[in-house]
Amino acid sequence: MTGLYFHIPFCAKKCPYCDFYSVSYHKDTVQQYVDAIIRNLRHYKGAVKDVDTLYFGGGTPSLLSTAQIGAILDTCAECCSVQPDAEITLEYNPTRKAGNYLRELRKLGINRLSVGTQSFSDEQLRLLGRTHTAEDNRRTVLAAVEAGFTNISCDLMLATPDQSAETLSQTLDALTALPITHVSAYMLQVEQGTPLSQNEGLLARCPDDDATVDRYLQAVRTLDAAGFRQYEVSSFAKNGFESRHNCKYWLGEDYLGIGAGAHSCFQGRRFCVPKDVAAFLAADNQPTELLDAHPLDREERLMLGLRLTKGVAPDALSANAKSRIPMLENAGYICKNPTGNISLTPEGFAVSNAVIGALIE
Ligand code: SF4
Repeated sequence: MTGLYFHIPFCAKKCPYCDFYSVSYHKDTVQQYVDAIIRNLRHYKGAVKDVDTLYFGGGTPSLLSTAQIGAILDTCAECCSVQPDAEITLEYNPTRKAGNYLRELRKLGINRLSVGTQSFSDEQLRLLGRTHTAEDNRRTVLAAVEAGFTNISCDLMLATPDQSAETLSQTLDALTALPITHVSAYMLQVEQGTPLSQNEGLLARCPDDDATVDRYLQAVRTLDAAGFRQYEVSSFAKNGFESRHNCKYWLGEDYLGIGAGAHSCFQGRRFCVPKDVAAFLAADNQPTELLDAHPLDREERLMLGLRLTKGVAPDALSANAKSRIPMLENAGYICKNPTGNISLTPEGFAVSNAVIGALIE
């Protein structure tokens, strides 16, 4: 089974912290872009057979009209065998006028919504440069439920400027009170070249490393108490609502990305499409750059497996890594889970780069 990913690199306004590839929305360019996605889907016909997950990510896929999304989905059905129970996700930016659009999406077969809520504090949303409010977040989720969505994920951003235990607690209370099934909780990363990276005043208001760990653990514990079980370093789900598409990334399953900036791990190669909308539009078949001709070697599989609470079998670790197990276990960073696998604890996930680094040598 393959997952299909469509990268929709258009945003109404660039958020100052974001380094994802996206360009300004322009109606004609977007239509040409949709035509190019359809052209590429036809090109891959035959190479992609059974598809069990589809994902519209961005950028802001909710800037596409429902007719454009419908045309892409129709082409998927024409070119490959989309499983009747396929998980079909669309990333959605909160807005006040959501109702009709969401009902149309649901009719088209989109069955999972990933809502870019980020915070339920208006002040924090403003500091992050987001154009929506906490009330927009709430209304969007409720409108999605009314439109028939039963699988809704919300994004939560941690370690943002001025985020205290108290303001995070308010956000978590508002978030967990909503009828959602999944939360993706990310630490704010300061990426070089973004406006945030040059805003020293705002950077000085971000929590330090210790406070960042505290905020992360606070989120893990509160989400767990509300029934959102952690299954990956940044992912929390009610039972049975883990993101099937994202799990493909961590389990080393095939996924094919279409669109400028999209990544793929497909048919034994890891490759990406250059971050260049003009080049994507100009080409009959999307240009690709090879990233790895032999992906998913032992080290990469270990690294991906350790992101999951499922963990990895101790036998998969090198002798060196095994010798570090008692020390990491005593420090509370890893544990043996009921299957006998080694997995990171929430404390370990909070400093996952260092812990995973110690286990993949
Ligand atoms: S955070 Fe999302 S909406 Fe904001 S610029 Fe990045 S991709 Fe666009």
